[in-house]
Amino acid sequence: MTAVPDVRRSVPRTDAVLADPLLADAVAQLDRGLVRDAVRAAQELVRAGSLEPSAVAATVAARLSDTAGVGEVLNATGVVLHTNLGRAPLSAAAVLAMTAAAGYTDVEFDLTTGQRARRGRGALAALRAAVPAAEDVHVTGNGAAALLLAVTALAAGREVVVSRGELVEIGDGFRLPDLLVTTGARLREVGTTNRTSVADYADAIGPDTGCVLKVHPSNFRVTGFTSSVEPGELAGLGVPVVADLGSGLLSPDPLLPDEPDAATALRAGADLVTGSGDKLLGGPQAGLLLGRADLVERCRRHPLARALRVDKTTLAALAATLRARTTPTYDALHADPDVLHARAIAVAGRTGGAVVPSDGAVGGGGAPGLELPGWAVALPAELAGPLRQGSPAVVGRVEGGRLLLDLRAVPAARDADLAAAVQRCRPVPCRS
Ligand SMILES: *Cc1c(COP(=O)(O)O)cnc(C)c1O
Repeated sequence: MTAVPDVRRSVPRTDAVLADPLLADAVAQLDRGLVRDAVRAAQELVRAGSLEPSAVAATVAARLSDTAGVGEVLNATGVVLHTNLGRAPLSAAAVLAMTAAAGYTDVEFDLTTGQRARRGRGALAALRAAVPAAEDVHVTGNGAAALLLAVTALAAGREVVVSRGELVEIGDGFRLPDLLVTTGARLREVGTTNRTSVADYADAIGPDTGCVLKVHPSNFRVTGFTSSVEPGELAGLGVPVVADLGSGLLSPDPLLPDEPDAATALRAGADLVTGSGDKLLGGPQAGLLLGRADLVERCRRHPLARALRVDKTTLAALAATLRARTTPTYDALHADPDVLHARAIAVAGRTGGAVVPSDGAVGGGGAPGLELPGWAVALPAELAGPLRQGSPAVVGRVEGGRLLLDLRAVPAARDADLAAAVQRCRPVPCRS
């Protein structure tokens, strides 16, 4: 008889796992096949030597608590607005606001008069207060929807004048010119890939111009023999100037000198600006439209506005984000490298591995090329897979044959969970 390998013997039996009190709710409420699959997956990790046998029930429970099909991830990539990881994490205040708004709410009702009221007026008021240069504001489901609505309302059936240097692809095959033509507007391209002047725009503008569009090429940089025109320089050409800023930055941030912001663009003469709620603003997925009252009103009154309107919980989270002193996104971008260093030393003390310098990034297609100096814990690259599949899932960056866990975008309060996740994958930490 051959000896059963140790690891085999230490894999907990399925019935023992199912009897664990941690899984009582899941066993009572969820589909049996789903529960058994989760147990089998965790047993597989034990067999592979990447999960402690004692952590099986907890791993299964955490996996199954994700009934929404979207699970929690600790973002140790160093990329703050990681598109694949859901971009901006919401603040505690925003989460509370969403929960409060989840049932019946006064999202479209005035409790004083008992009459219908403007939908989401709390969020709209907070946005207006944050950007006094905006006469009026409107919110859509995302940034692309804000741009779609603006161009449709101002230029459908007419021309939209745009620089050849700004017909960009944002990501995942999403190309701005494709979006623009779906509005029914005709693209009137001006300038060249690297240079466009005010005269190029002026020459193209005529009676059939619906608007001029300026797009911030957020995810790449063109250097060398280049020139482009600021939205403000196009004021006075007699047609509305729409600026798609992308990032949703409302006022300048010295850390990000090349990122345009709504207040500056409007003060310089842009008539309407659009941006995202879940990039640099650090809020929920949303599209922001700010600017001249008559143009915002045209957008709001357009039939498409109804199709692009935003959910009550999003409005609540947006209002809470705008009223808060800071956001997790802002804090991660502006994290003190010395604090990140101390945190990395503490995590490495529990997990083994080396503390190494690590450059973070803004992400979300923002501030390309900007490096945010910080620190990471370097571990063997083999841990990347098991950590991704653990609970909570931990996603780091594999670089130079090592797994780097960069703490910039990990909430400091979760460092212990991060270290515990590594310890579960790596039962015998080697101290360095
Ligand atoms: C990100 C981005 C968009 C799209 O915004 P979403 O919120 O992702 O829909 C549009 N334009 C620019 C310049 C962007 O950077």
